[in-house]
Amino acid sequence: MELIDAHCHFDFPQFDGRRPAVLAEAGRAGISRLVVPGVRRADWDRVVDQARQFSEVFYCLGIHPWFVTEHHVDDLDELRDRLRQRDPRCVGVGECGLDRLRGPLADQMEWFERQVALAIELDLPLVVHSVRCHDEVASVLRRQQVAVPVLVHGFAGSYEQAVRLVDLGCYIGVGGVITYSRASKTRNAIARLPLASLVLETDAPDMPPAGVAQGDNSPVRLPGIFEELSELRAETSPQLGEALLANTRRLYRWS
Ligand SMILES: [Zn+2]
Repeated sequence: MELIDAHCHFDFPQFDGRRPAVLAEAGRAGISRLVVPGVRRADWDRVVDQARQFSEVFYCLGIHPWFVTEHHVDDLDELRDRLRQRDPRCVGVGECGLDRLRGPLADQMEWFERQVALAIELDLPLVVHSVRCHDEVASVLRRQQVAVPVLVHGFAGSYEQAVRLVDLGCYIGVGGVITYSRASKTRNAIARLPLASLVLETDAPDMPPAGVAQGDNSPVRLPGIFEELSELRAETSPQLGEALLANTRRLYRWS
């Protein structure tokens, strides 16, 4: 079965010195592609370089809510320029978004709104980080009448929150969260959502699945997350695998 890791920070230093080995192991596990979101200007070159180096790696460029304070408004012009001149491995804008657990939302909001506008302007898929901000994210997407594909990655939340996002056309990123039995609200949401809205991801090296140490997550954990998802869902594993692949291809506009 072929799997795609729709969101993975493979450029992070945790993978230094072992990227070819991790990709080889991921390949043996059926993982054909990884999408690496750039999170800050200082990292964009590194992200692009790795996509040049490894044929499995695709990428997005953006400014993550945790890093907004290290950026200047000129960086958005630089982001626009880079996205305009993108190579075929660049598949979207992000990671951007809102995070209630890190810094004032008011500081993050403008950066998020501008990157949403940029995705619309350049007609590019958008990758969103939303932590305890699903209602705020939904209202920004609604206000800007977003019609490009949107991934709300690493989803944790209720079925009602997820449905509001899906109704706006968002894809829901299913990651390690669902491997924790205590995450019953998220597990219940993911079990019930429309199959066509689900996309698989690790968010490695962050968001470790149950039994994996903090910072030790890796794209090779994707099949474990898939198995857990398969337990939660009514579909057979082959049906699920096929749908996840098709959804990810629609999200990143791979024909
Ligand atoms: Zn991420």
